[in-house]
Amino acid sequence: MSEINILSPHVADLIAAGEVVERPASVIKELLENAFDAGAGNITAELRGGGMTYIRVTDDGCGMLPEDAGLCFMRHATSKLRDERGLEGIGTMGFRGEALAAIAAVSRTELTTRKKGTQQGTRVLLEAGEISEIAPRGCPEGTTLIVRDLFFNTPARLKFMKTDKAEAAACAAVALRCALGRPEVSVRLIKDGEELFFSPGDGQLSSCIYSLLGRDTAKELLACASEDEGIAVSGFVGSPRAGHGNRTKQFFFCNGRSIKSQLLQAAVEQAYRNTLLTGRYPACVIGLRLSFGAVDVNVHPAKTEVKFRDEKKVFDAVYYAALSAVEGESRTAEISLSPATRAAAAPKKDFYKTLRADEFRAGLPQNAVRAPGVAPPRAGTPASGGFSAEKGTVVWNRAPAPGASAGGTLVRESGTPYRASPRAVPAEERCPSPEAAQTEPAETSAAAQGLIPEPHGNFRLIGEAMKTYILAEKDDSLILIDKHAAHERMIFDRLKKQDRALMSQTLLVPVTLRLLADEIALLERSREALEDLGFEIEPFGADSVVIRSLPADTDAADAAAMVEEICEQLGKNGAPSGKDALDGVLHTVACKAAIRAGRSTEAGELNQIVAEVVAGRVKYCPHGRPVAVTLTKKQLDKEFSRIV
Ligand code: ADP
Ligand code: MG
Repeated sequence: MSEINILSPHVADLIAAGEVVERPASVIKELLENAFDAGAGNITAELRGGGMTYIRVTDDGCGMLPEDAGLCFMRHATSKLRDERGLEGIGTMGFRGEALAAIAAVSRTELTTRKKGTQQGTRVLLEAGEISEIAPRGCPEGTTLIVRDLFFNTPARLKFMKTDKAEAAACAAVALRCALGRPEVSVRLIKDGEELFFSPGDGQLSSCIYSLLGRDTAKELLACASEDEGIAVSGFVGSPRAGHGNRTKQFFFCNGRSIKSQLLQAAVEQAYRNTLLTGRYPACVIGLRLSFGAVDVNVHPAKTEVKFRDEKKVFDAVYYAALSAVEGESRTAEISLSPATRAAAAPKKDFYKTLRADEFRAGLPQNAVRAPGVAPPRAGTPASGGFSAEKGTVVWNRAPAPGASAGGTLVRESGTPYRASPRAVPAEERCPSPEAAQTEPAETSAAAQGLIPEPHGNFRLIGEAMKTYILAEKDDSLILIDKHAAHERMIFDRLKKQDRALMSQTLLVPVTLRLLADEIALLERSREALEDLGFEIEPFGADSVVIRSLPADTDAADAAAMVEEICEQLGKNGAPSGKDALDGVLHTVACKAAIRAGRSTEAGELNQIVAEVVAGRVKYCPHGRPVAVTLTKKQLDKEFSRIV
């Protein structure tokens, strides 16, 4: 006797239903998407018992004719797709005709609907997919679907459900994603009688973000947009100052559909390389518009994954949109003072809670969501009157490092290959360096001598504190700058922009450095790139290299430590000629070439750094730390109780 059975349609339906309806959150998502497809302007979703006992979604969309009200629960019943040609360009959220059939198969369902412009509504009752009643019913135009006792007939699935609280949280997360993707629709979510959120539906993504994600998130976001080759990107990305510990604040949409996409995630995160600390993630709400034919949404029954026809183009579009927003960010970090001051500045409301439309409009600060490059208005700041950096070449006069001979070379003890241990690099010269500022005897530089009265551009250099921080005044703000970090960034950017070989300095006495065989191989493989940066490094015997030249701005005393660090950077990614590895090398060179904390610096150099920071060209060090903090007069006045 044959061992193979043909499953009954009932079992086959239950299996198929399981793919679409995994948990209450899937029901919420499908019902919201149906309401969007129906052209609704207002949707209310309500859940009880974590969505397991009761889900109701009401919309004011197109509604259904009486003859469709029963039909819509059949498998593969859809008004959104006619034939296979339609699959090539899907412009609706749904198209598979599966959701209502699947939901009805595993619950007790009630549909009330009235087609727009018709007089009579219809009510349909179903139990485990079977219609028990269908009758005319008076009701408003639009559709209401009630789903009770989810999985009552599939105990196996029921066992996998989490607590009501967890299921409700999943429902809220899904509903929020759906609502964020449709700023033109007002969505309200109610849980056990309490309103969880409400989006105003005014078509503005910024308002939608403000009401759904809260004020704090909204005010950190920078607008980003681009349109090229049929791909339009619009939305917001987080300020690099506001990195998060995970990716829960990243939202992606494709033609209004909330999607998960590692491609888009990578594109956004790539734009923050060198501005966001490792392990921190940017927030973003990014929407893509592209022709329906350029994306395949039919990859998975839940339709949360999509396939782009040209992934590279999509990646680039998102990457450059995010990058221009990040680069346009021109605000320096603001300092936090005492807890009292912080409390005064803190938002008074819990903005995660629902705001009514009028409350919400009244509360929206003008700069809640800023356009890229537009700094928040500050009292006393003239609207125009930008700063123009001083012209002329900058000469970075650095004091010779201890241990460097007059000729800028390192004299090595004969016989012992030089291998710098971390300790060999003085603490104040490593990154991060500020906290390690050392107490050298007072210097005679202008900065060390006191105030520099000359106003410079639109700021005034006050001087240098602890040989580590630059103090400057601009308008009604005091700016504190980490001089090493800022200068490191300036050099890093310059190195990155450079398209020809850098100036090199030949060491009077070449430095020999013992390395592992694979480190030597890495240096060999990257030889050309390193030469462009000013390094001349040759193999020397089986286990050593000889360093003959270094980039012009670096210290000969750092030669060995620098090359070791470069080996580490090149080895890290297993891609020695890859961009990441070269960025790492540039970090090393920039760090070594930058002026150091713990040593006094000429006023001219300090002025140049402040000029770059004030002009918004230098915001983060290459490791992602902010280079400057500002302290406003208002904050100080509060500290001193001049104002309350
Ligand atoms: P799909 O959305 O993939 O077409 P569904 O099973 O979700 O499949 O819905 C089946 C059909 O029922 C839809 O194509 C649509 O015609 C109709 N429908 C479902 N929900 C609504 C609604 N809220 N308003 C109007 N029509 C609806
Ligand atoms: Mg649907």
